[in-house]
Amino acid sequence: MSGSFKLFTWLGIPVFLHWTFGLIFMYILWHAQSEGLGTVETFWLTGLFMSLFLCVLLHEYGHAIAARKYNVKTRDIVLMPIGGVARLEKMPEKPIQEFVVAIAGPAVNVLIATVLFLGMAAMAEGDLWELFTYAIRSDIGEEIVTESGHFLSPWLHFAIKLAFTNVALVIFNMIPAFPMDGGRVFRALLSMWLGRPRATNIAAWIGQTIALLLVATGIWSGDFMLSILGIFVIYAARAENSNVQTEDFLSKYTAKDVVRYQFTRMRSNDWMLSAIETLRHSLERNFLVFDVNDRLVGLLEEEDILRAMRKPDITTEIIQYTHRLEMVSLQDSLVKVHSMLRQKGCGMVGVMESDGQLIGVIDEAGLAYFTRMNAS
Ligand SMILES: [Zn+2]
Repeated sequence: MSGSFKLFTWLGIPVFLHWTFGLIFMYILWHAQSEGLGTVETFWLTGLFMSLFLCVLLHEYGHAIAARKYNVKTRDIVLMPIGGVARLEKMPEKPIQEFVVAIAGPAVNVLIATVLFLGMAAMAEGDLWELFTYAIRSDIGEEIVTESGHFLSPWLHFAIKLAFTNVALVIFNMIPAFPMDGGRVFRALLSMWLGRPRATNIAAWIGQTIALLLVATGIWSGDFMLSILGIFVIYAARAENSNVQTEDFLSKYTAKDVVRYQFTRMRSNDWMLSAIETLRHSLERNFLVFDVNDRLVGLLEEEDILRAMRKPDITTEIIQYTHRLEMVSLQDSLVKVHSMLRQKGCGMVGVMESDGQLIGVIDEAGLAYFTRMNAS
């Protein structure tokens, strides 16, 4: 993710910190200033925030480790002021698997809170409930002496605050605002009954409604982090819903339905000048490149030609700009074609018959046109 720098790699997953994380420190300083906190209190508050983000990180690892169980890799984990994101390569499509992956994050925080509460219960003396209420009410870093004369050290006080923060994290994450964790759990449960496309549609609408409420609450209460999160959820819900609906539509068709049989061929030993000229006078944006023996050698994309044009570099042979062509077969689902074009970022794929013979091509424009023509 842009604007992030790598902290470390643990369990094979790189962890990144987004630059906006610096805002947290500015917020702490501002809070300390306006509340008139001393150095010690500011120190404890900073400690609480850092521990909170450690808990957020472990939460993300919860998702990642659960996903690994289903052979889904996690690209990275990014920490931002509004929380963390474990970027999974994909969400498992089986409802029960999505359910487990989604719930694994909050489950980690339940575990942390339980350990902290139990530890504190074992170490503190006196009426636990009384200590809890004192701890919640007083500022972090304070030594607490309750009415009945019991004492709570700053460390135990800190542990209680952190435990409650984890509880708050669980409650917040379980809000059914898809694609937040609670929303994913909701979608997974609904999928078992309605199927994934309809379940996603419903979850996305509910998610966006709740997110809108979050934005409004944030503005009303001056908690802009909440508003930013709400906007983030609205966009994410829309994007993911549209992705699921598209894939559902595409799953009904194969490469055979979209393949384009006519395409312009380029010669690997021609100059880039001829590629520039062809691009200028054609509707095609990507081209297959063949050698002198008419053997397919690869793909020349619009970006490559434009790069040569800008330099300008017109006398280099086309082969120098050519790269690998991904192939699909006529029977392959359009979902596969779509993911190759979008996720892998190739401009065009080659289509072959069952004997491996090249028969045509599919590019993004062709797929988009097909979708427009056929989607209801
Ligand atoms: Zn989560």
